[in-house]
Amino acid sequence: MDYLPLHFNLKGRRCLLVGGGEIALRKADLLLQAGAHITVVALVVEAPLRALLQDAHHEIYVRSYATADIQGKSLVISATDNAQVNQQVAADANHLCIPVNVVDKPALCSVIFPAIVDRSPVVLSISTGGKSPVLTRMLRHLLESLVPTGLANLATYMGSRRDALKARIESPDDRRRHTEKFMASPGYQFAMENNYARADDYLNLPLAEVQTGEVFLVGAGPGDADLLTLKALQFMQLADIVLYDNLVSEQVLAKVRRDATKEYVGKIGGDTSTPQESINDKLVRLASAGYRVLRLKGGDPFIFGRGGEELESLVAAGIPFHIVPGITAASGCASYAGIPLTHRDYSQSVRFVTGHPKGGNVDLAWREFAHKNQTIVFYMGLGGLATIAAQLVLHGRDASTPVAVISNGTLPTQKVVIGNLADIVERVKTAQLQRPTLIIVGEVVSFRETLGMG
Ligand code: SAH
Repeated sequence: MDYLPLHFNLKGRRCLLVGGGEIALRKADLLLQAGAHITVVALVVEAPLRALLQDAHHEIYVRSYATADIQGKSLVISATDNAQVNQQVAADANHLCIPVNVVDKPALCSVIFPAIVDRSPVVLSISTGGKSPVLTRMLRHLLESLVPTGLANLATYMGSRRDALKARIESPDDRRRHTEKFMASPGYQFAMENNYARADDYLNLPLAEVQTGEVFLVGAGPGDADLLTLKALQFMQLADIVLYDNLVSEQVLAKVRRDATKEYVGKIGGDTSTPQESINDKLVRLASAGYRVLRLKGGDPFIFGRGGEELESLVAAGIPFHIVPGITAASGCASYAGIPLTHRDYSQSVRFVTGHPKGGNVDLAWREFAHKNQTIVFYMGLGGLATIAAQLVLHGRDASTPVAVISNGTLPTQKVVIGNLADIVERVKTAQLQRPTLIIVGEVVSFRETLGMG
């Protein structure tokens, strides 16, 4: 190991910062976050740095660096572009064995700054030993997306309950087992969400009574895996079992934890191959058996997703659950096809409508949909497209109103067919579109051309 990582307690300790420009500003900002008292020495101190260090704990000297400046400092940072000054500062600090960092000059440093993922009190530091700042940054970005923001709440919670837990469970081994069980229980997620009272319901139980099962109802978005939310991704890493339906794309499924069990519970083309009843039962059964079950649904679980029904049975069985929204097909398909769903001049509202209602007939509020200045998005409408187009015209919507039918939206196989209410049925027939398809009706469809995507 080239460098030993240590986390430095700088609260109330004095640090020397040589330099007054932008890089010094960035370092000052970090030192401030750690509660340091800062002394700046520089020939020129720029306004933002002055503004940052207004507090009386800090000192600013506009003059050249002198060896005596080092005295009594816990940490020294040189952030000047003067090589001679940098050398001098490093030599002086090393002479007194004071940790020193010269920005971007690893050879002159006794300590280097890692990249940080800050979920204080949890702090992750990443270093490539000064070898590749770009690689360090890439790793930081990766961790930023994987490490939940709620970890800060969880760590604070564990800290606040530590003494009580010690008093209650004397043996360190038993305590560790108890904490591990808690971390595998729904209490973990409640603590992450700052709901400490519900977390206590799990932490305070005797070990044998801690139930671990729960359900995550997660929106998988319309297909492109990069449209997953960070939270969806985090739950996908946490789950033991995944129940997914046919709208969940392969690229999304590939992001699920590798050793999780994946089970398809989809429905194809409106046929009920897995009855909703049995999905609900299955969720309850698996969660009751102690598993973390991920119910992964295409788009957003609360938009034509029957997410509500699944939750009802969980509530009835007393199973804890969490809901993660997803990008719904209308948003995803519209964006990827270059169609704004609303437009100040042409469309003041947008409706999401099912083209496949419960009874089978497309029996909808046609009169309302026929008004101009609104966009209507039909989900599950391919089979009813002819009826939809005919009814809209019958109730007064202009036959020249543009229509887009988007198949496999956001995926590499995405296809967009454009027409109007009079000719869209014919055009879709010719194009032989694959399901899933989404229908967008409204003047906004023609903006696709303005955006150069027509
Ligand atoms: N909960 C989902 C919708 C489920 S209903 C959501 O929020 O998106 C299923 C319908 O969604 C399909 O019949 C189709 O109309 C639409 N849909 C979902 N994903 C789609 C995609 N990638 N491209 C086109 N339509 C899609």
